[in-house]
Amino acid sequence: MRKGRTFIISGPSGVGKSTVLKSLLAKRDNVYFSVSATTRAPREGEEDGVHYHFIDVDMFRDWIGKNEFLEYAEYVGNFYGTPKKYVDAAMDAGQDVILDIEVQGAIQVVSKRPDTVRIFIAPPSWGELERRLVERGTDSPEKIQKRLLRAKVEFQTAHTYDYFVINDSVENAVRELDAIMTAEHCKPTERMEIISGQ
Ligand code: ADP
Ligand code: 5GP
Repeated sequence: MRKGRTFIISGPSGVGKSTVLKSLLAKRDNVYFSVSATTRAPREGEEDGVHYHFIDVDMFRDWIGKNEFLEYAEYVGNFYGTPKKYVDAAMDAGQDVILDIEVQGAIQVVSKRPDTVRIFIAPPSWGELERRLVERGTDSPEKIQKRLLRAKVEFQTAHTYDYFVINDSVENAVRELDAIMTAEHCKPTERMEIISGQ
């Protein structure tokens, strides 16, 4: 059976991760997007169970205690975590798994599962990142500044990732992500059954 791979997508808030991933998911088969749990309030248009599992801090702590998370982290005043059971079920079913998570969570996942592929998505410029955050209209000016500060810190870890994609246009970014996922499935280690069967 086809083996699923796990792909981490990290990058500054507002760079376009959700936008790009929506197009990528429409393009590729056999991909499971991991729906995270968060204590942040839903934005307009976000649905519980689709974009996030929106839970309160007490429940988040309860899930930590029950070892429900593959990883979790605090980000600009809220908690975010990846529920383990859905990721494992998707992997068992041979699906690729995409985790849209920030850098602290990425480190935790890689330490537990070293074969995870890490992709960093960057904006074409800092000015464009700020423009996208403002245009999205979901965060106060103060929150936007906090997210931009955090983005600069996260950017310093970009060189530790396996791939670096610039989201200048959604089309280009999706094409590169699609190519990366395909290439990862063409590694000999992914095809050992065929190789050792010769
Ligand atoms: P993230 O998930 O990384 O926080 P979003 O997907 O919410 O970011 O995108 C932030 C804003 O930037 C949205 O208003 C989105 O429409 C816009 N956006 C995303 N990608 C691009 C792009 N390549 N060019 C211009 N605007 C973009
Ligand atoms: P946002 O509030 O903009 O939706 O997300 C803020 C940040 O949290 C983004 O960098 C996003 O990748 C990250 N994030 C979302 N879900 C998770 C998660 O489950 N774990 C971790 N560590 N980060 C997450």
